[in-house]
Amino acid sequence: MNVSVQPNASKLDDVKLLIDGQWVASTTQEWRDIVNPATQQVLARVPFATTDEVDAAVAAAQRAFKTWRLTPLGARMRIMLKLQALIREHSKRIAQTLSAEQGKTIADAEGDIFRGLEVVEHACSIGSLQMGEFAENVAGGVDTYTLRQPIGVCAGITPFNFPAMIPLWMFPMAIVCGNTFVLKPSEQDPLSTVQLVELALEAGVPPGVLNVVHGGKEVVDALCTHTDIKAVSFVGSTAVGTHVYDLAGKHGKRVQSMMGAKNHAVVLPDANREQTLNALVGAAFGAAGQRCMATSVAVLVGKSREWIPDLKALAQKLKVNAGSEPGTDVGPVISRRALERVTGLIDSGVQEGAKLELDGRGVQVPGYEQGNFVGPTLFSGVTTDMQIYTQEIFGPVLITLEVDTLDDAIALVNANPFGNGVGLFTQSGAAARKFQSEIDVGQVGINIPIPVPVPSFSFTGSRGSKLGDLGPYGKQVVQFYTQTKTVTARWFDDDSVNDGVNTTINLK
Ligand code: NAD
Repeated sequence: MNVSVQPNASKLDDVKLLIDGQWVASTTQEWRDIVNPATQQVLARVPFATTDEVDAAVAAAQRAFKTWRLTPLGARMRIMLKLQALIREHSKRIAQTLSAEQGKTIADAEGDIFRGLEVVEHACSIGSLQMGEFAENVAGGVDTYTLRQPIGVCAGITPFNFPAMIPLWMFPMAIVCGNTFVLKPSEQDPLSTVQLVELALEAGVPPGVLNVVHGGKEVVDALCTHTDIKAVSFVGSTAVGTHVYDLAGKHGKRVQSMMGAKNHAVVLPDANREQTLNALVGAAFGAAGQRCMATSVAVLVGKSREWIPDLKALAQKLKVNAGSEPGTDVGPVISRRALERVTGLIDSGVQEGAKLELDGRGVQVPGYEQGNFVGPTLFSGVTTDMQIYTQEIFGPVLITLEVDTLDDAIALVNANPFGNGVGLFTQSGAAARKFQSEIDVGQVGINIPIPVPVPSFSFTGSRGSKLGDLGPYGKQVVQFYTQTKTVTARWFDDDSVNDGVNTTINLK
């Protein structure tokens, strides 16, 4: 392969590939601009890697696996200890890049990095996470034990909305388990991801253990079908996640796909009014609604439907501006295309008869006239057949539906195909207990609007929001990134009694 080696990948020019520990310039003819969504300024160009480059990255990972899998657990863990310290040290710098390329506020960008950092901290506990089991004397003189062994080269494909957290869900846990990794970040905002990868190299991740390729569908498909890749982690939209799950599964890989969502917040009239309204507005409009766990539907039970004017008043106070400006609550959406999609869906809500309480279309932000801004948007009177209910909008749009009872609310949520997150707001322990038992959604918040578990647990979205049994991080991902090998062993003393030949199935 014809490559030129670069010392530093994150200079704001052409983004490099990471192959075998070297930052290399792609030879591709296909490039895409990385654009600041508040200004349309081009920050850099990202290559769509060629097939040869993807093959070179996988081959480097395959070679590195031979030694990395034998590297002692303690040595792998100490790299993670170093990495967490480096991320902490560089968090503010990376947050600037992240905010510029993604649009979210600086504080939220720091939060994005912090939630990923927590996974790296958890990877430092690998010594007690990657343990097998042992049972002594399961039959006469026979012991059985399990080994949790790394599986080989793993790949990760990540979305635009958390360019720090989601790559950090993947590669630290995969490599600390003894695997090697090929990461394919979002082509819309790969710069902050690349900065985190640079820190991983600085922390001591050896050449070939972590590789980065850039691109879109072709690169993703190449990873999903490559014979040397054993497992694929995907986070992104439902359509692409389903494609990745099917394609990689068909090619014999272990796959986990975390996908789209429609997250409901059920509000009972006994809930703490101010806390609930604050929570709804923060969870619906924070990060411009571009979180897979954003609250996008409020289900108002009984008299809580009277809270709509307060909800509107609070949402109206949010400041829409570039993420880099102090005091900003709602930044731009990622692209012109996303802007058109979100405003088109708002149009559809009006056409289909929902009441537009607050209209964020066409919002003007002085100094950022070219930005992809949508202001907080609130609909009431929504029904479940409207597109604003059936589709994931992924913008700062909150819709409200009204029902009479908690049972009605549970039935409504359970009839929705997605199962990422749900919230209940109430002061009643009995209602909360009934809700957590009967609701068919993988992550439940009780008076918590965005119930993303900390890394000692796992991310457990369900139904239409997830394919594959095991979620990212926590104990589940250690299972995902390892193969259990069960050993049944018997040892003979020199003076052991000769058992003779046994042709039956049972052990003695
Ligand atoms: P996306 O599906 O468009 O892109 C995700 C990745 O897939 C990117 O790396 C992209 O390059 C690649 N890709 C895009 N089109 C492809 C195609 N046709 N074939 C193969 N690969 C392709 O998602 P996005 O817009 O970047 O992210 C937003 C989506 O991600 C939302 O639906 C959101 O709910 C979801 N998300 C889910 C979670 C979760 O944990 N469930 C977390 C974050 C985001």
